[in-house]
Amino acid sequence: MNDIRNIEKDREFEEQIRPQELGAFSGQEKIVENLSVFIKAAIMRDEALDHVLLHGPPGLGKTTLANIITNELGVTMKVTSGPVLDKPGDLAGLLTNLGEGDVLFIDEIHRLSPIVEEYLYSAMEDYKIDIMLDKGPSARSVQIKLNPFTLIGATTRSGLLTSPLRARFGINCHLQYYDVPTLTGIIRRSASVLGIPIEDPAAGEIARRSRGTPRIANGLLRRVRDFAMVQGSGRIELGITRRALDALDIDTRGLDQMDNRILSTIIHKFNGGPVGLGTVATAVSEDAGTIEEVYEPFLIKEGFLKRTPRGREATPLAYEHLGIALPGGIHR
Ligand code: ATP
Repeated sequence: MNDIRNIEKDREFEEQIRPQELGAFSGQEKIVENLSVFIKAAIMRDEALDHVLLHGPPGLGKTTLANIITNELGVTMKVTSGPVLDKPGDLAGLLTNLGEGDVLFIDEIHRLSPIVEEYLYSAMEDYKIDIMLDKGPSARSVQIKLNPFTLIGATTRSGLLTSPLRARFGINCHLQYYDVPTLTGIIRRSASVLGIPIEDPAAGEIARRSRGTPRIANGLLRRVRDFAMVQGSGRIELGITRRALDALDIDTRGLDQMDNRILSTIIHKFNGGPVGLGTVATAVSEDAGTIEEVYEPFLIKEGFLKRTPRGREATPLAYEHLGIALPGGIHR
C-alpha cells in the first residue's frame, strides 16, 4: 500500500515539473531542433506528423518529449504500453478512437506481442485496420479507415525491435545521457518550479551525482530538500547537499550499484579486460542487451569503460574510482 502511495507521489511530482513545450526541454539539442522542424512542417501541411520512435535509457525524457510533441501539435494523446496490449482488439479500440492528427503513445513498444505488432503495420502505413466480425463459419473481416494519426513509440531496448516495426517510424530519436551543465540547469528549473531556494554549486553537485539522468536529478533534489529543511536553513547549499548525498550513499560520480558491479567484476574477475559482453553479463547476472543499451553508454561516456575489438576494458579511472591499484606495467 505504501509502495502504491509512493509511486503515486512520484508520478505527481514528475507531472508537476515536466516541461510542457520544446523551449523548456533542455539538452538533446539535435533532437529538439529536428523535431521542431518536423512539427512545424506537419502543421503547415495540415497533416499528421510522421511516426516517431524515441529510444534511450530510462528517465532521459521519452515520455516528456511525447507530451511536448502532442502539445506543440495541439492534438490529444492516448497512452498505452506494449505489455498492456494483449490482443489486436485492444489496439483496434484505441486506434478507432483517435481523432484527426492525434497521438498514440506506446511505451515499452519492444514488448508488443508479435500478433499485435503485425496488426499495427497497416495502421501505421495506410491508416487502415481489418476487424473480424462474427466467429466460426460466418466470420468475416471488414476494413476500417482510421483518422491519420501519429504513433510515438518509446523503448529503452531498441535492439529488441523487429526491423519491420523499426522501418515504419519516419522519425527516429536516440536520447543520450545529459552532461553536468545541462543537468544543473534542469535542477535549477525544477527547484524554481517547486519554489525551492538552491545555490548554484549545490545544483552542480546534485547534477554530478545523477548518472546523467534528469529523473535521478529531480529525485535527489527532493531528498536533499528534506535534509535542508530538517538539518539546515531550508536553503539548499553545497555543505548540506554533500552531507545529504553521502548519507544517502550516492556515488560521488553518480554510478549506481550495477555500474559499480560491472566495473569491479571486469577488474577483479577478468584482470581489467578485455572481456566479452556475454561473459560480463553472465558474471553480473544481467541481460547482455540491457548492459549494452543502458549501462555501458554511461560508463563509456564518463570514461570508466572502453569498448575494444577484443572486448570491454576497465580504464585507469575505473580503478581509481573503486580505490583499486592499477596492476604494475599496465598503462591503458
Ligand atoms: P522511462 O523510460 O523510465 O519511461 P522517460 O525517458 O520516459 O523514462 P520521463 O518520464 O520523460 O523519462 O522523464 C523523467 C523526469 O525527468 C520527468 O520528471 C521530466 O520532467 C524530467 N526530464 C526529462 N528530460 C528532461 C529535460 N530534457 N528537461 C527537463 N526535465 C526533464
